[in-house]
Amino acid sequence: MTTKEEVHWYHTAGAAPESHELDGSLDVDVLVVGGGLTGCRTALGLAEAGASVALVDSREIGWGASGRSGGQCNPIWRQTPQQLIDMLGSSYGERLIQTTLTAADDLFLDIKRFGVDCDAVQNGWIQAAHTKKARKNMRALGSSWSAAGLDIAELEGVSVRDASGSPAYSFALRHAAGGHVQPLSLTRGYARAAIAHGALAFENTPITKLKRADGKWRAQSRTGQITAENVVLTTNAYTDGLWPGLQQTFYRFFSAVVATQPLADEQQREILPGKVTISDTRLAIYFARYDRDGRLIFGCVGSSVKVDAFGGFRRIMRGLRTVFPQIANIPLERKWAGGIAVTPEMMPHMHEPAPGLLAGIGFSGRGIAMTSVMGRALSAKLLGMATDELPFPILPVTPVPFHGISSRLMPLAAPAMTLKDRFDSMTDGI
Ligand SMILES: Cc1cc2nc3c(=O)[nH]c(=O)nc-3n(C[C@H](O)[C@H](O)[C@H](O)COP(=O)(O)OP(=O)(O)OC[C@H]3O[C@@H](n4cnc5c(N)ncnc54)[C@H](O)[C@@H]3O)c2cc1C
Repeated sequence: MTTKEEVHWYHTAGAAPESHELDGSLDVDVLVVGGGLTGCRTALGLAEAGASVALVDSREIGWGASGRSGGQCNPIWRQTPQQLIDMLGSSYGERLIQTTLTAADDLFLDIKRFGVDCDAVQNGWIQAAHTKKARKNMRALGSSWSAAGLDIAELEGVSVRDASGSPAYSFALRHAAGGHVQPLSLTRGYARAAIAHGALAFENTPITKLKRADGKWRAQSRTGQITAENVVLTTNAYTDGLWPGLQQTFYRFFSAVVATQPLADEQQREILPGKVTISDTRLAIYFARYDRDGRLIFGCVGSSVKVDAFGGFRRIMRGLRTVFPQIANIPLERKWAGGIAVTPEMMPHMHEPAPGLLAGIGFSGRGIAMTSVMGRALSAKLLGMATDELPFPILPVTPVPFHGISSRLMPLAAPAMTLKDRFDSMTDGI
């Protein structure tokens, strides 16, 4: 298990919000279970509107993926707008498209509006193709979202290297709205803003039981009880057995990241110039960005909570050497990993499994902007927004196929994906 001391963001984050272990009983309008970006943004929306809110985490605010994330704001889906409409129908599809068009700007507006100090940079995202087939798909993806209204430019040949500093690609999209944040600072900042609006935050407070009685929810923790009109589950990849079946609605993957020593100014002018971010089209995706001090944060798909397991660390280092051979031998300062919840269609799910109980999970590795979209949608729903005005449809809690066996085989997924990526690069390279 990666400890929080191993996670780079804990060493540069803004102050933790005021929170303590729940002790005794509490009665609130809404209980939010899970203190990551989704839960904190949900609590903020509700508290801002005057609801009484308890926000609880089994560890601490930001302990899950939100405090471990690469923090890249890559705000489009893997699907084209037309594919979203085919998948969700025209009404939800169109609303999700409109929400997506502003998702990145809305995140950076939220950061300003709530005065969150999280080293936010909105200088663009380079999405690079690693094979000819990926180039063709990306062209279609880019032109369709461009036609829908996003500012996306195609980069080819030497212009990819100029824009990214990587010699590994010959085609990429440059998404102007992309950017990056210090993810733990953002999570803590949302929580602090929620607390400033009256929300109560509790750490070391795992909810172990949820029961409906007399038209309300009763949530039990080790040391207390919360009674609430409504409960929102925002536990994503860290979802446990609290609500039957929820854990089976996604595949739990891992992502692993390293932080290098700060790069020299000259290196920073060449690699990811202007502090753009990069990610590519590999199954075991490579992604990179700078932190505020010029360290490169480089990651890929992991196998477990332990970075080294199943060749995870070797995979990251091979990735770093492939994407940025100029700094192949740069010393590292830290390495860490965290869980990601991947749904079959790689889109988040909103659920309402019982009256007064909502869940928003399954960000599939694209959570930095989309958790805020989900948090705003969950709070809007509880504040009275009609279901058919939401950006996400409310889905039944349906288990993904072969969940049990695939969970056991999951550590082998990243090595298998890496093999497939290498085969594709050899047979269909750029
Ligand atoms: C290493 C890594 C790199 C990533 N990089 C990127 C990136 O660059 N860009 C991007 O868009 N996305 C990225 N992601 C994904 C993104 O970080 C997540 O989608 C997002 O943070 C999910 O936020 P969340 O609030 O939904 O869940 P989390 O932040 O995981 O929060 C869930 C919380 O629920 C708590 N919890 C669980 N069960 C209970 C319970 N019973 N009672 C109380 N609390 C409970 C947990 O302790 C946890 O803190 C990355 C993820 C990882 C792990």
